[in-house]
Amino acid sequence: MTSYDTVPGPSAAADLAGRTALVTGAAGGIGGACALRLAAAGAEVTAVDRDEAGLAALAAAAGELAGSVQPQVLDLTDLEAAEHIAAGTDILVNNAGLQLVRPIEEFPPDVFHTVLTVMLEAPFRLIRGALPHMYGQGWGRIVNISSVHGLRASAYKSAYVAAKHGLEGLSKTAALEGAPHGVTSNCVNPGYVRTPLVEKQLADQARAHGISEERVLSEVLLQDSAVKRLIEPDEVAEAVAYLCGPHATFVTGISLVLDGGWTAH
Ligand code: NAD
Repeated sequence: MTSYDTVPGPSAAADLAGRTALVTGAAGGIGGACALRLAAAGAEVTAVDRDEAGLAALAAAAGELAGSVQPQVLDLTDLEAAEHIAAGTDILVNNAGLQLVRPIEEFPPDVFHTVLTVMLEAPFRLIRGALPHMYGQGWGRIVNISSVHGLRASAYKSAYVAAKHGLEGLSKTAALEGAPHGVTSNCVNPGYVRTPLVEKQLADQARAHGISEERVLSEVLLQDSAVKRLIEPDEVAEAVAYLCGPHATFVTGISLVLDGGWTAH
């Protein structure tokens, strides 16, 4: 389970007071950090995940923040429910995700389908559900947690790379349609972040490559990163807060890359 020892303090800029936000995958590492950061900025956050215990831990960690975190248990493969739950939010953070590392010829088609459903089709339905309210008030923020894998491929990650590349296109399309209505849409593209998703990948990649987890970290995951460390979830959350804040009204349709120099190659 995610630990919350880097909860943002009450001093975090309270520039989202009065805003509502919905963060998916909020029981996970990055989603939890985003929910807490937006709540620290004053937002009333609905934290969506299928992991009920993880959401309860997140809500408990939100105690003293300027805003609030309201847990909402939902499996995002229920696309109707996903679209419904997004109605009325001012800020939408599409973050939920999952990964399977397997060569294409061995990749289970049902898992490919689930990855695309959770990481591309659910964001489409959430955006679709959120836009009428955002357009109605002339203000909205959509932040899609993409990845370096929205811009680059890696072997054995066909579903994840396909979903993230699709999310990039969805985000840019939403940016073009939303601009006349005061709605921005952007991607945030981290390299490897210290979360349970990456910890699981270390083990999976070690099996796939036949090497130790330590060697997977230095020789596989961080091979192309100029900065040789994992990013922390709160660093990603800070980028999300910036895109939702008052200084980013002109920023739309971009991919904000936080990759330690990976794509500089
Ligand atoms: P995580 O595993 O810690 O969190 C993902 C969360 O999504 C989990 O809480 C999980 O329960 C939830 N989720 C998965 N399927 C769901 C479903 N069907 N319905 C509802 N919730 C569901 O992972 P994370 O590392 O925090 O990843 C969050 C996002 O950041 C993902 O989109 C991931 O692709 C992206 N990302 C992660 C990294 C990284 O290195 N960790 C790098 C780049 C991008």
